[in-house]
Amino acid sequence: MSTNVTPPSAVGSNVGSNVAGSVASRVRPLVIRTRSELAAARAGLDQGEVAVVMTMGALHEGHAALIRQARERARHVVVTIFLNPLQFGPGEDLSRYPRTVDADIAICAREGVDVVFTPTPDVVYPDGDPGVRVSAGPLGAVLEGQLRPGHFDGVLTVVGKMLHLTRPDAAYFGQKDAQQLLLIKRMVRDLDFPVDVVAVPTVREHDGLALSSRNIYLTASDREAALALSAALRAGADRATEGPSAVRRAAREVLVHEPLALVDYLVLVHPSTLEDVPEWYRGEALLAVAARVGTTRLIDNVPVRLGPDGGPLDAFSAPVRR
Ligand code: AMP
Repeated sequence: MSTNVTPPSAVGSNVGSNVAGSVASRVRPLVIRTRSELAAARAGLDQGEVAVVMTMGALHEGHAALIRQARERARHVVVTIFLNPLQFGPGEDLSRYPRTVDADIAICAREGVDVVFTPTPDVVYPDGDPGVRVSAGPLGAVLEGQLRPGHFDGVLTVVGKMLHLTRPDAAYFGQKDAQQLLLIKRMVRDLDFPVDVVAVPTVREHDGLALSSRNIYLTASDREAALALSAALRAGADRATEGPSAVRRAAREVLVHEPLALVDYLVLVHPSTLEDVPEWYRGEALLAVAARVGTTRLIDNVPVRLGPDGGPLDAFSAPVRR
C-alpha cells in the first residue's frame, strides 16, 4: 500500500491550524495506524468540536454524506477505517470484503477530513479477541441479530472502543443500518458515553438502490433484482395512510415478484422496540427488509409515519426510549 503515513510529531502543525487552507489541505488527512499516533493526533485537535465517522472502508457517497454532515457541525473530523473481525460470523464475508484504502483516503482528502485512523486488528485488540464485550441485549437478538448471532455485540464493542480512543463530541451513523444506529444510541445512553449520536439519512443511487460497500459483489442481474428492496419499501411507505397491514402487503407484493431476492425478513416495527406494530398503531415506524441476492446479503429500510399524514420520513423525530 502506498498510503501516506505522517509521523505523530507532525500532528500539531497539521491539524487545527489557522494557516490558510492551502497548507492545511495539502497535508490532510493525517493517516495514522497506531494508538500512540491517534493519541497524539487527538491531543492536537484541542480547539473546537471533534466529530467521528466510523467505517469499514470501501467508502462511497453514503460515507461521504456522513463526513459532510460531520464537517458542518464540527471543526475537526476523524474517520476510522477498520474492518472489525468481531462483528463477522463464521462463513460471512470478512475475507472478501472490499479493501480500497488508497481510494478511501482520497475521498477523505476531498471531504476535508483531518485524521484517518486505520488500525489493524492487533492494534484494536492487542490481547486478541476481547473476553469482555458490550452486550447488545434483547434488541441485538432480533432481525439482523437473529440471523447474525453476536454481530451487534461485536459492533458495540468496537464502537465503544473507538469512542474511547477518539473522544469525539459527536459521532455520525447512517440510517441505512437502522438497528445498528438504534443500538448505538441505546449504548451511549445506557452506558453514559459523553457523545451525541447523529443519524444521517440513507444515500441512494438514482434508481433507489441504497449505497453499500457490498454492492460491488452484485452482478448486473443481481443489481436489477436488488432494486426490489427499495421498490418494496417505497410501495409500502406509499400506503402509510392506510395502516400497518396495507404497508406490509404492498411491500410484500413487490418482493414476491422478484424471485432472485431471497427475503430474510420484511418487517414494520416500532423504531425503539423493534416489535411489530399492531394494526391500530399510528405514528413513526420502521419498514425494514433484508434479502440475499446472488452471493450478496443486502439490508435496507425506510422510516415511515403511519396515519392521516402518513408517508416516508427522512429520519425519526422521536428520541430513543427504553
Ligand atoms: P460501513 O462502512 O458499512 O460500516 O458503514 C459506515 C457508516 O456509514 C455506518 O454508519 C453506515 O450506516 C453508514 N452508511 C453506509 N451506507 C450508507 C448509505 N447508503 N447512506 C448513509 N449512510 C450509510
